[in-house]
Amino acid sequence: MRVYIIQQGPVDWIAQAGLRAGDIVGIREHLLQEFAAWSPELQRLVSENDGAYLDRPIFALPVPHTWDRSPTATLLGDAAYLMPPLGVGVNMAMLDASDLALAIANSATAAEAIGLYEESMMPRSIEYASLLQGHAGDLLDAMVPEFDTAD
Ligand SMILES: Cc1cc2nc3c(=O)[nH]c(=O)nc-3n(C[C@H](O)[C@H](O)[C@H](O)COP(=O)(O)OP(=O)(O)OC[C@H]3O[C@@H](n4cnc5c(N)ncnc54)[C@H](O)[C@@H]3O)c2cc1C
Repeated sequence: MRVYIIQQGPVDWIAQAGLRAGDIVGIREHLLQEFAAWSPELQRLVSENDGAYLDRPIFALPVPHTWDRSPTATLLGDAAYLMPPLGVGVNMAMLDASDLALAIANSATAAEAIGLYEESMMPRSIEYASLLQGHAGDLLDAMVPEFDTAD
């Protein structure tokens, strides 16, 4: 069983608490203080771990994220437009893969395929990245806002 805790705070929250990564006992104590109001049953989700606490900060690329076109290389999915994880990343990455595969199948050269693919991927990704920019905190809202993407 794997348990994730999502919290909003400074990226160096472990150091700010006077701890270091890998200090299982110290981080456990710190988290139990943070969740002191939780019931003992739920606190066990935080404290009954066998392994280390892994810190996984959530990052996002600047919007728009663009690059000079290369005739031989391109980016797709998170590598092209890493954005707050609000439920579209996998679908966008699969759509990119499909667009790129079709572009390759329908083009005479790699450069032409990359051009075709980036022309469809870029506006789509910029639209969604703009909508989600700055919204990582929504992951912690009781009500996740609905984004109106219908034009
Ligand atoms: C907490 C969280 C929750 C999320 N929830 C959702 C959700 O509900 N719905 C949704 O649609 N999206 C969600 N996402 C986003 C989604 O996971 C990503 O957008 C999606 O996985 C991007 O796919 P990708 O193939 O571009 O990248 P990835 O899935 O990151 O795949 C990249 C792969 O490349 C590998 N790799 C990296 N470097 C190298 C290297 N040098 N050599 C070889 N391999 C390498 C990695 O190990 C990885 O397997 C969430 C993300 C996070 C962090």
